Amino acid sequence: MPIKAKILLIYTGGTIGMKKDFETGALKAFNFSKLLQRIPELKLLDCEIETISFEKPIDSSNMNPEKWADIATIIEDNYNSYDGFVVLHGSDTMSYSASALSFMLENLSKPVIFTGSQLPIGDLRTDAKENLITAIQIASLRENGNPVISEVCLYFEYKLYRGNRTTKTNAEHFRAFISPNYPHLIESGVHLKMNKDLFLPLKKDLKLKVHKTLDTNVVIVKMFPGMSETVLAAILNISNLKGIVLETYGAGNAPTEDWFIRLLTQAIQNGIQVVNVTQCSAGSVNMGQYETSSAMKKIGVISGKDITTEAAITKLMYLLGHTIVQNDFKTVFETPLRGEIG
Ligand code: ASP
Repeated sequence: MPIKAKILLIYTGGTIGMKKDFETGALKAFNFSKLLQRIPELKLLDCEIETISFEKPIDSSNMNPEKWADIATIIEDNYNSYDGFVVLHGSDTMSYSASALSFMLENLSKPVIFTGSQLPIGDLRTDAKENLITAIQIASLRENGNPVISEVCLYFEYKLYRGNRTTKTNAEHFRAFISPNYPHLIESGVHLKMNKDLFLPLKKDLKLKVHKTLDTNVVIVKMFPGMSETVLAAILNISNLKGIVLETYGAGNAPTEDWFIRLLTQAIQNGIQVVNVTQCSAGSVNMGQYETSSAMKKIGVISGKDITTEAAITKLMYLLGHTIVQNDFKTVFETPLRGEIG
């Protein structure tokens, strides 16, 4: 008889495990043990499930790099004892966390699947059960003794996505996430429809390396018509600023005005890494396609290509947490590390 897969369920918080506060009516996290009592169906799954919870479950708006390191530590400490990991997480910042963990877990050779829900597990119309049950099922998938998935993913509303390609686009619909520039990996219907050629290849013989040092001296700036020199200068003058994700227009376009290019040139000369990502919800930066991006290309702005803002900011924190020679930084950023960029 084949040995059952062992899955570790890591509960960090989020709507999935929340209930209404009697007095205020606001949703807040409740004790994890009660969460499992609410899903007796889990016992029917063909795998062994063990659980571990954040001491204080959080709304994911309170997620931060220290807590990402806590998730990474749980995975590191339990890596050899389990076949897969399912992280229960609030949907609000789930794409940031899935992106961050994808960088922090180098040489991952087991599935790490983030999921959550839009309605609490106790709600009659909850989406939590399907998300949780299928996420666990996917984490348990094995072929010839090897895991089918060996990367950080996000499962929500019948689709498994590469985590660092996702973004939350809807605060109400059960289909809360999209993966604008990379197709979903698995679709759940009557069968699990797998797009295997899109999976990251298994790195079976490499040892897991966990990176917990992230540099938070970074900022995301969304361009808008009317952004003033004073505002941009103030941002770029933040003491100890090391990196900026600049959300530009269309294919990576921004004003051609002198002050704009001068400020960015100075920032780059001062060692600040400037990454150009598009504020469009899909598509890629292509500096040089228009006159409005040519100067940025010339002064050494990094192309975020088709990366999401969530993956760009976490990749920036991750790379700045390492000592990378200044001249190599641009090349390293523009190279896919975990399938996050085209
Ligand atoms: N506010 C919640 C959170 O992100 C929403 C959710 O769980 O979907 O923790």
